Amino acid sequence: MTASADPITDNPLLAETGLPRFDRIRPEHVEPALRSTLDAQRAAIAEAERVERPDIEWLARLERIHDEVRRVWGPVSHLNAVVSTPPLRDAYNAGLALVTEFNTEVGQNEALYARFLELERTLPAERRVERELVAQALRDFRLSGVALKGRDRERFREIMQRLAALQAKFEQNLMDATDAFEHHETRPDALAGLPEQVLSRARAKAAEKGVEGYVLTLDPPTYLAVMNHARSAALRERYYEAWVTRASDRGPSAGKWDNGPLIAEILTLRHESARLLGFRNYAELSLATKMAGSPDEVIGFLRDLARRSKPFAERDLGELTAHAGRRLEPWDVAYYSERLREQRFALSDDELRPYFPLPKVLGGLFGLVERLFGLEIAERPAAGTWHPAVAYYEIRRRDDGGPIGGLYTDLYARPQKRGGAWMDSCFDRARLPGLARDPVAYLVCNFSPPGEDTPSLLTHDEVVTLFHEFGHTLHHLLTEVGYPSLAGINGVAWDAVELPSQFLENYAWRPEVLKSISGHHETGEPLPDEKIERLNGSRTFMERLATVRQLEFALFDFLLHVADEPPDLARTYALLDDVRREVAVIRPPEYNRFPSTFSHIFGGGYAAGYYSYKWAEVLAADAFAAFEEAGVLDPETAGRFRREILAVGGSRPALEAFVAFRGRPPELDALLRQSGMSEPAAA
Ligand SMILES: [Zn+2]
Repeated sequence: MTASADPITDNPLLAETGLPRFDRIRPEHVEPALRSTLDAQRAAIAEAERVERPDIEWLARLERIHDEVRRVWGPVSHLNAVVSTPPLRDAYNAGLALVTEFNTEVGQNEALYARFLELERTLPAERRVERELVAQALRDFRLSGVALKGRDRERFREIMQRLAALQAKFEQNLMDATDAFEHHETRPDALAGLPEQVLSRARAKAAEKGVEGYVLTLDPPTYLAVMNHARSAALRERYYEAWVTRASDRGPSAGKWDNGPLIAEILTLRHESARLLGFRNYAELSLATKMAGSPDEVIGFLRDLARRSKPFAERDLGELTAHAGRRLEPWDVAYYSERLREQRFALSDDELRPYFPLPKVLGGLFGLVERLFGLEIAERPAAGTWHPAVAYYEIRRRDDGGPIGGLYTDLYARPQKRGGAWMDSCFDRARLPGLARDPVAYLVCNFSPPGEDTPSLLTHDEVVTLFHEFGHTLHHLLTEVGYPSLAGINGVAWDAVELPSQFLENYAWRPEVLKSISGHHETGEPLPDEKIERLNGSRTFMERLATVRQLEFALFDFLLHVADEPPDLARTYALLDDVRREVAVIRPPEYNRFPSTFSHIFGGGYAAGYYSYKWAEVLAADAFAAFEEAGVLDPETAGRFRREILAVGGSRPALEAFVAFRGRPPELDALLRQSGMSEPAAA
């Protein structure tokens, strides 16, 4: 540790070869690395502006420029999500301002835009990938305000800066509020029903803090365990209240990390930016990069599904209420669903969990995709990662051993780590002059960490989550596109991005797959046939309740962004109430502050795009139906799926790719069947 290290030559963020050295990256490396990279890329852009006849080599040089920035910024942004210490967070926030400024500046560069227009005119029609790349680049120039002049152009830049900072702050508030909550309990009977895995972590946490009994946190596995299994309604209510009031003006940390004011400002600025670009509202702007054609098409799609599913959801809730023998509060629904599922299918989370030790599930999942796509996945020593729980894998072709890419896994919940599960790109695939690089992915989840002498044991829901994220991972790794901007999930219409992920989820229900991903952690016995049958019997159980919840989120998000005037906070809540009256069957209490926790749309990239999950689920169910018709392990179908959908990344419009795979446009039937809604609800 030398204090006098040169900020440029000794900067791990600037290493040009090999995997990032996450262990060596310090907050103080971020700004010098970014500044020197952005300066160099500005000079490269100035040179590109002067080229009179832009051609394919010119296009590749531009790709290198974007790639350089991503190569330096990517690891910082990743670390900020998985080890968000206060100094790193400060460095991230400062870096985010620099990167946002750079992106807007490039997006508004008229000389560069003119070169792209020139290239569009001269590119031969058969260069389809390059033509798509240029078309997307031109679109992105327009969406960055390249046509804006004077004060409007300035204002647009200000808005981009402020929005980036607000969205980052939204995530950070949510993370801090989640980490701050603790529930201390000394009476074991108050925790009755909780799985041993959760209790032993709570005991360890209490011991670590030097207090009696149990300390429970609000990480996702603990929260879900309490909602599904805690017998005490008081404990469930306390957890429910803590969860739905995080980062708000209510609940246990009321006002401390309040996202409320951020919501109103984010909506106002998004609306203003959309109007500056000539759109009526932000929803229209959002659809400029998506498969859906118009706001009406999205709203119509959501309302149609809501109309179909609500009667089923009401019926499901009716059964649940009858089973509980009383009116259900929001914190009772998951608990009684579990009890009814136990009674009806003789199946409980706790009974399945021992069969799904994480290493076994992961090994089985690798085996499945190795077989489907002719791969070999092998663990390699992970040098220089960000946490001891991280593993690294190499993916190769089975036939000739040729390299495909790499994968980091970081699967356990811990403080200072963003909640949820996601796949992100560490490296995009590149085949450019001077740069041949294979893709590398991050696969991040928040499962319960292993105990002292037990592995991490997953619920079946968590198994499905792992398959989902692995679907994204395959999309990222199996791409054959050589331009980073169109490789893997890059450049794919956002409402089609969830196709491979939701597609792969289906395998987590197949008997032949369940056999190979399960093995009792004490006996090694795979999940018995009768449990597999009961699990599948319960697949659509209460599925419609989950569907109307997803539709509630999706419709709320979309209507928020389609309004002609951006709603203030009061109007935001009122809109959510309206949507709930229309779609939901469970009415939350007045203190519920769901919008303050809705990081998909206020922190991440799903604004006016949350509908994408349902939209892509139609594609995913219909694509999987092709496998059901041919055999779910059919190599020819898998090969076609890989070739037409996974390999092409963003180089071909999503609908075109789907039709090439399926032989026809997507149909809704498969999804309705899969969700148990193909028969009328009244029957
Ligand atoms: Zn996803």
